[in-house]
Amino acid sequence: MTDPVRADKAHCWHPFTRQSAWCDPAHEPLMIVRAEGVWLYDSKGNRYLDGNSSIWTNIHGHCRPEIAEAIAKQAATLDHSSYLGLGHPLASELAEKLVSFFPPHTLERVFFSDNGSTAVEAALKMSLQSRLQTGQGSRTRFLAFDNAYHGDTLGAASLGGVNRFFSRFRNLGFETEFIASTNDLKSVDPTTVTAVVIEPLIQGVNEMRPWPEGMLWDLREWTEKHGIHLILDEVMTGFGRTGTMFACQRENVIPDFLCLAKGLTGGTVPLAATLTTRAVYETFLGGAENAFYYGHSYTANPIGCAAALASLRIFETDKVLEGLPAKIAHLAACLEKLSATRNDMVAIRQCGLIAGMEFQAGMGDKITLAARNHGLLTRNILGTVVLMPPLCVSLEEIDFAMDALARA
Ligand SMILES: *Cc1c(COP(=O)(O)O)cnc(C)c1O
Repeated sequence: MTDPVRADKAHCWHPFTRQSAWCDPAHEPLMIVRAEGVWLYDSKGNRYLDGNSSIWTNIHGHCRPEIAEAIAKQAATLDHSSYLGLGHPLASELAEKLVSFFPPHTLERVFFSDNGSTAVEAALKMSLQSRLQTGQGSRTRFLAFDNAYHGDTLGAASLGGVNRFFSRFRNLGFETEFIASTNDLKSVDPTTVTAVVIEPLIQGVNEMRPWPEGMLWDLREWTEKHGIHLILDEVMTGFGRTGTMFACQRENVIPDFLCLAKGLTGGTVPLAATLTTRAVYETFLGGAENAFYYGHSYTANPIGCAAALASLRIFETDKVLEGLPAKIAHLAACLEKLSATRNDMVAIRQCGLIAGMEFQAGMGDKITLAARNHGLLTRNILGTVVLMPPLCVSLEEIDFAMDALARA
């Protein structure tokens, strides 16, 4: 039988990972073999609370029977069929469901793909191509925010403001101007900009930094005034993380493009969606030269659509959003309590069920590693320890996670 650690170190290549350290003989990687609810189990039988929602994907806990059954049923009925020139009922149902979260005739078209990067990539190309089809070919530039993260494919990465990831590829990809805040809009030439891209309410990879209240609204006003598309990257914030189904609903903003991925299937299988308006969509009608020549082999995969529909049904049956305020308030109280007992905590940041705890330099790695010994798996981003449990987390499980952090 294959020794999984040996084979991993011999043949696997992990994302965002220093492989020399990973493959060091002294490093004993965790092998996760099973999961249930908020708990992950390793090959040695240890259990850990999934404090990072398996890289921000999990929503209702792991292996929810309703989603697992929907996946199994779909896999036995129609596993995959091309979405190029063919349709299937679950994609139709899911598209109708997704647009139903917004007022009629706003976001009403859904383009499916596989992951957050491609959801953003599709929005960028749609924005650019729609300009060419409406006599606005001089709008070729994007605006993005310092320290933003929009994915790793080259187009999405060119909107990324995290220099340690993206600077070496900076002269490739789309032409992008970076701004720090809406104050910087004053100095932007709006006439050559096609779209502004932002993670609404909170930047994830930028150590969980929330934006000032009202900022998204201001940005929507500015983009409308100048005929610029607003692309909201809700790959992290979508599906209840911030307390509402989508972050943009907190400021009553409707974008021209909404990018969804991570939590779309409840965190089970890859699927993404780019929602857009009739106004954008209609610029792609007409001749063959106006079609959107973009797509992926697994676009609108039926198993993914089945999982997404099952996940959205759980939002209704479990009244997930209604249960969030109590959890969010409890998390806030716990964070407050922890910071009161420590003088090495630099800042606490919270948006919904997303928390970032910034510690003095060098402590983040040590805390997250030590937390494993107390039954909590999470990650730190530079000095900020992230706590972002699945939405199904109970108050007791929040206590458990905070206790593990305090001990760590
Ligand atoms: C994770 C993430 C992405 C990229 O999604 P992938 O599925 O990893 O390609 C894009 N934007 C934001 C805000 C994200 O958090």
